[in-house]
Amino acid sequence: MRKKMIRAIFPGSFDPITNGHLDVIGRSIKLFDELIVAVGRSPIKNPLFTPQERVEMIAELTADIPGVLVESFDGLTVEYAAKKKADVILRGLRSLTDVAYEFQLAMTNRAVAGIETVFVMTSEQYGFTTSTMIREVASLGGDVSNLIPKAIYKKLQQRLKSVSDNP
Ligand code: ADP
Repeated sequence: MRKKMIRAIFPGSFDPITNGHLDVIGRSIKLFDELIVAVGRSPIKNPLFTPQERVEMIAELTADIPGVLVESFDGLTVEYAAKKKADVILRGLRSLTDVAYEFQLAMTNRAVAGIETVFVMTSEQYGFTTSTMIREVASLGGDVSNLIPKAIYKKLQQRLKSVSDNP
């Protein structure tokens, strides 16, 4: 009998995508047939890139990984998951500190929509990488080049420069 095709969504803000996110995408695509990286369009604190820019950056970086699609979405993650007929929600885990929040989120999503969440642990070297930290450190001149892809680093520097030139 043919195995059922498994489709997962990986929701997040990805502002910007980091090596940690890419690590989770690379690991999890072995578990699923299709993975939709879903960029939330809901406003976040001090965004640096528009949702459309984030989608384009992720699409470029994942273009050669079969089965990975990138989209943006509005509103509730579980509603978007249902619309896409996703079987599971994928979330990345960095450390034990992530677990309490992720546990609550996964339980809530299961209670309201009956959808399961699958967790994939990142590589040790990205266990402390968050997009928020990347934005903050980079805006103060810190070197984050080994935590994000080269192309993203360039775009981040350009964006930070244009923000500081046009406050
Ligand atoms: P953040 O701003 O914390 O990077 P996102 O909303 O972009 O958050 O995260 C989307 C998903 O990716 C979440 O499941 C988050 O736990 C996961 N994630 C974020 N950074 C990493 C990382 N360095 N390693 C593994 N998973 C990560």
